[in-house]
Amino acid sequence: MIVVMKPGATPAEIEHMIRRVKDLALTPHVIRGTERIVIACVGDERFKAPEQLAVGAGVEKVIPVLARYKIASREVKAEPTVIPLGSGSLGARRLGIIAGPCAVENRAMILETARAVKEAGAIALRGGAFKPRTDPYAFQGLAEEGLEYLAEAREATGLAVVTEVMAPEQVPLVARYADVLQVGARNMQNFNLLAAVGESAKPVLLKRGMSADFEEFLLAAEYVLSRANKQVILCERGIRTFEQYTRFTFPVAMVPALKQATHLPVIADPSHATGRADLVEPVARAAIAAGADGLIVEVHPDPEQALVDGAQSLTFAQFRRLVESCRKVAEAVGRTL
Ligand code: PEP
Ligand code: MN
Repeated sequence: MIVVMKPGATPAEIEHMIRRVKDLALTPHVIRGTERIVIACVGDERFKAPEQLAVGAGVEKVIPVLARYKIASREVKAEPTVIPLGSGSLGARRLGIIAGPCAVENRAMILETARAVKEAGAIALRGGAFKPRTDPYAFQGLAEEGLEYLAEAREATGLAVVTEVMAPEQVPLVARYADVLQVGARNMQNFNLLAAVGESAKPVLLKRGMSADFEEFLLAAEYVLSRANKQVILCERGIRTFEQYTRFTFPVAMVPALKQATHLPVIADPSHATGRADLVEPVARAAIAAGADGLIVEVHPDPEQALVDGAQSLTFAQFRRLVESCRKVAEAVGRTL
């Protein structure tokens, strides 16, 4: 349930209600909206009487939250969560694009890519230093050396750095270099990892598991939010279906469905969703038309030579065209890019 405080509730009244919630053996999460403060009460609510809280000074009402994902729910916070990122943000009227190679391969290529995507309009640089590879003999990433190159690229361009963290024990290391911690599709239900990034001060980019359903995705976000971290970006990256023609299947309806259910920013990954460079731009446009707050796109200086995911990586010229055409779609749906 949530305790909705009156617009003019005093800090003492809010403190008092936080204590009352704790007395009921529930965990209070204070969510500050533009007009009022609400206190989300999470835990086993079965025997807790909302009337006990409703009589508190400064309380407007106490309402049940039907969704199992509580803090992620729009029921708890109606206005969108905006997450600052580089020179822009995700979740506001202006969209944000994260771009870069699948993996950091060497210093020169990440610096070259960073400059090119910055020039084209990206606000953040992506690139894996720890790569979750299906094949144990495939390139696994440069690890800390890759993180150093990403940090250097940030210094050179001002782009924020988005990079994957694969294990709880890697969180302190990756958080030292990254601006956003990416949790990959294959780790969406790694609950220890979700708890670990939930203790970090860095925003989390959570990718939908390829076999996870809508509620499982939001409950994974809730794992992070139920810790200290309230900055989660949801990423639809395609799911596995019977269709093998594209790498995954991009469920475009998930974009507006997620936006209705949650206040968190929702971005799309048309690169992994399709696996094919020629399909990336049309799917990106569809995602933006459907209400996505941004994109994460794979870009490589020479896709033919890429160590990972070359077939879906855009050249610099293709990326520039994507940004231009997505800008028009954004404007058509009342957004900017
Ligand atoms: C990636 O973004 O590099 C990646 C591995 O994506 P996903 O986890 O969605 O497969
Ligand atoms: Mn990739």
